[in-house]
Amino acid sequence: MTASHSSAHIEAKANARVSAPNRIDYLRISLIDRCNFQCVYCMPEGADLQYALKEHWLSHDEILQLLTEVFIPLGFTRFRLTGGEPLLRPGIVELVEAIAHLPQTQDLAITTNGFLLEKLAQPLYNAGLRRINISLDSLNAETFQKIIGGRGKSRWQDVWQGIQAAHQIGFSPLKLNVVVIPGINDNEVLDLAALTLDQNWHVRFIEFMPIGNDDLFSSKGWIDSETIRAQIAQRWGLGDGSVTGNGPADVFKIPGAKGTLGFISQMSECFCDRCNRMRLSADGLLRPCLLNETGQIDLRTSLRSGVPIAELRAQVGALVDQKPDINFKMRESGVTGAYSRTMSQIGG
Ligand code: SAM
Repeated sequence: MTASHSSAHIEAKANARVSAPNRIDYLRISLIDRCNFQCVYCMPEGADLQYALKEHWLSHDEILQLLTEVFIPLGFTRFRLTGGEPLLRPGIVELVEAIAHLPQTQDLAITTNGFLLEKLAQPLYNAGLRRINISLDSLNAETFQKIIGGRGKSRWQDVWQGIQAAHQIGFSPLKLNVVVIPGINDNEVLDLAALTLDQNWHVRFIEFMPIGNDDLFSSKGWIDSETIRAQIAQRWGLGDGSVTGNGPADVFKIPGAKGTLGFISQMSECFCDRCNRMRLSADGLLRPCLLNETGQIDLRTSLRSGVPIAELRAQVGALVDQKPDINFKMRESGVTGAYSRTMSQIGG
């Protein structure tokens, strides 16, 4: 088979699914529910978000206690720090250092909007961080500003400098996350994909989900990965690709490109059967599925009210066992009307 495959091959690859249930070993930890951007798809402007009280944030010590005494003993070895905007969390570098140096940590990554990255990239690297995902929904400063909901001078340049800093320091793989919104940035799919031609960057197109901004979702709709892939394949052709930590993404590569293209298709291709993750919010709520609110455990309240750690471990272990049945496919049983938390509050 040639490097560039037929569209039937591309879809066959995207649809190939592992049938055995996955080992749940990946925890996404939200460090803060606030953000310095208000992306239209995540936190609509003017929305009256109920931020967690600062005293309800899990402290660094509580996060480390939960990791070492609950999650790691249950087999979790891979962690991602997210938010809100994780680089706003005071003491982020020290926390990264502590998690990176736990002997059981096999993988540690951060998802950030990149605005504060230019200054923080080197300290984070020195602390032991090697993997980073940066949201970059547009290459156009004006469109970017519209998406992030800011007024005044566009912050695109700051983010771009953050990306360049991370690249020069040697973060690898360096992934750029794009949520494609019809009529807003869908005209930039090829330009964004082209970033992978000359740089070893990994651009990932994430399908827009009805979580955070239901109105925008209803009015604009979403574009499925297959449509985006077809557009890229028509321009350059598309072959198989691979990248460390690809999780739920289907990974492809433009023939001859240095980087890869990932497609995260939770709306069109439901990857519950290979989901390996749980989410811990900044205020200590453990959530087994992004799109189904069943089974959440309030670890902060339990921890602070003196529930023995062995009991918490047993509760989390039971939730891990139930997770295969709590998934997107079963969301009707786990969500009443709209989602109660936005992506920024859950930790995307
Ligand atoms: N502030 C960081 C950032 O911007 O990457 C981390 C938090 S953000 C909630 C994490 C990821 O969630 C981003 O890549 C963002 O694009 C994605 N996201 C947020 N709301 C989404 C939605 N409704 N549909 C799809 N992806 C979404």
